[in-house]
Amino acid sequence: MDMDRSPPGGSLEQLLRQSGSALTPQRRSILAFLEGNLDHPSAAEIFEAVKDQVQASRATVYNTLSSLENLGLLRSLRSADGTLRYDPNVTPHHHLCCTQCGRLEDVPLDSVTLLHQGRPVQGSVRLEARCSRCKGEAACPS
Ligand SMILES: [Zn+2]
Ligand SMILES: [Zn+2]
Repeated sequence: MDMDRSPPGGSLEQLLRQSGSALTPQRRSILAFLEGNLDHPSAAEIFEAVKDQVQASRATVYNTLSSLENLGLLRSLRSADGTLRYDPNVTPHHHLCCTQCGRLEDVPLDSVTLLHQGRPVQGSVRLEARCSRCKGEAACPS
């Protein structure tokens, strides 16, 4: 099985169907919210976004998120404050963690080369710096 090595070929919903899993209304609205979402929302933010669309308790949303993660459709990562955040982009990439607002920003894999004992290695790193939004805003007040 080299399926998971190929880049995602369709929407999250299609990928879920391909995995043979049931597309419940909860899953559908969570996937729709996360599709193309680059903000790495926390579980609480996802719950706020979908709770009006589906009858889902907080626990259901959280459980759905972890089952989607287990299916490989999402990945979770921790931001600087320890909040668990979800990323629909499961292809390897690095993250820049904003030291000002805590936002996580995607950093393309090939923009950072990791070297270990002089050899390039695979892996993702979390960089800490001000994100592109905060950099822009910080220029104004001073
Ligand atoms: Zn920021
Ligand atoms: Zn990301």
